[in-house]
Amino acid sequence: MDVVVVGSVNADLVVRVGRRPAPGETVMGSDLDTFPGGKGANQAVAAARLGADVALLARTGTDQYGARLVEGLAAEGVGVEHVMETEGASGVALITVDAEGDNSIIVSPGANARLTPADVTAAGDLVSGAAVVSLMLEIPLDTVTEAARAARRAVLNASPPRELPGELLALADPLVVNEHEAAFLLGAASADAVSEPAGMARALLALGPRSVVITLGADGAVVAEPPTAGPPGFVDAAAGAPDHAGVPEAAPGGVAAHGDGAPGRPEGAVVTVVPSPVVDVVDTTGAGDAFTGALAWRLALGDTLPEAAGFAAKVGAAAVRREGAQSSYPRGEEL
Ligand code: ATP
Repeated sequence: MDVVVVGSVNADLVVRVGRRPAPGETVMGSDLDTFPGGKGANQAVAAARLGADVALLARTGTDQYGARLVEGLAAEGVGVEHVMETEGASGVALITVDAEGDNSIIVSPGANARLTPADVTAAGDLVSGAAVVSLMLEIPLDTVTEAARAARRAVLNASPPRELPGELLALADPLVVNEHEAAFLLGAASADAVSEPAGMARALLALGPRSVVITLGADGAVVAEPPTAGPPGFVDAAAGAPDHAGVPEAAPGGVAAHGDGAPGRPEGAVVTVVPSPVVDVVDTTGAGDAFTGALAWRLALGDTLPEAAGFAAKVGAAAVRREGAQSSYPRGEEL
């Protein structure tokens, strides 16, 4: 497999309302729309539509959603042999969209909460044999950590934001976050001190992941990697200059970005800014998952991280041009 996603599958239940109800209040909404979702399933569909050989390790419930969600994934070309059925409810996201287009979302994890580290071990070669294992935080953290341990390379989208165990952070290559998740991981104090994206990416790298990508919506993404060669403090400003207009940027004056950083690693950071194509935005739902699925696939094919991020930014931009999450994801030929 190019990519194995160990992650969540949800039914997204969407109702549009004029305004959200206050506590104790009832408001009338639109008819209910049901869409396939879940960050794990979204990543897998994004990669499959682009042509990746991709499988999903996940759990769905025995309710009315489980079988339909699995059928939908199979129809998208995602390998579902390791999507297991668990007695009870599937993962569900209850989504209200108000007149301004703002979302409020409650995620009920259902079967996703029952994906265990033992499931990862039982899957054996599926996880350890994949070129890249793609992860997110809608399943138990110890399951995510077990999958990262077994992986040859683990891409970790730290969303929704949660405190991460040091071991898991250290296995992320890259850690993928948006700006809000970056601020959460850095903590309020350091997020204030480092507000521009390149500084945030360097500060995140100093927390210990092998590499970092911060997605920036219309502004694309920023990549931070440790230098691959050279003495401590050396910043390889020429590294990773991609042909898609990425701008490599050294840490100021070659100052070490992670003086207290991961043991045994040269200090400093190579930061690459990756632009996103300018598009007409219809709906940004699931853009981050499209980005992560595409990134995982291109890394599996051997791209450098800045190259893979450049490609993923195009996929993310394509995904915001249409409504929905999975339904908005582009196919290879369309890109
Ligand atoms: P979401 O929570 O909506 O799934 P996110 O906050 O995790 O998204 P973003 O940084 O908003 O992630 O988007 C991921 C990628 O999608 C960006 O790096 C970019 O390439 C693309 N993208 C998102 N919004 C836009 C936009 N308005 N114009 C162009 N590209 C966009």
